[in-house]
Amino acid sequence: MSMLLTGSCRCGRVQIAVRGKPTRIGICHCTDCRQESGSAFTYFAMWPVEKFETNGDTKEHSGRRFCPECGSRMFSVDDKEAEIKLGTLTEAPTPLSPTYELWIKRRETWLHPIEGAEQFEEDRTP
Ligand SMILES: [Zn+2]
Ligand SMILES: [Zn+2]
Repeated sequence: MSMLLTGSCRCGRVQIAVRGKPTRIGICHCTDCRQESGSAFTYFAMWPVEKFETNGDTKEHSGRRFCPECGSRMFSVDDKEAEIKLGTLTEAPTPLSPTYELWIKRRETWLHPIEGAEQFEEDRTP
């Protein structure tokens, strides 16, 4: 698949690009994600690290990278995978939908399970 998705932070100093299909697409309602995003959940997807590129300086807290200028939360990356916050993508709505939901015990009561998405009370169990 030749899909290429690009994105940036709010101020444009940090750019990202991912190639091909993500390996999984998630929504997380956990306390860390709520505090970090300032919102009720995060929407993210994982790509093999070699499919991910970035440009521009980021700062990091607990492995999560953000733009030091505008504060946009961008991605996390290790030697295997890159986790991209999908709200940073230019294309909205994204051409993706969640395959799983984490920490549903913290989900707002007015939100409903996403049809077809695997549901986990807490973290993903293998
Ligand atoms: Zn920025
Ligand atoms: Zn979380």
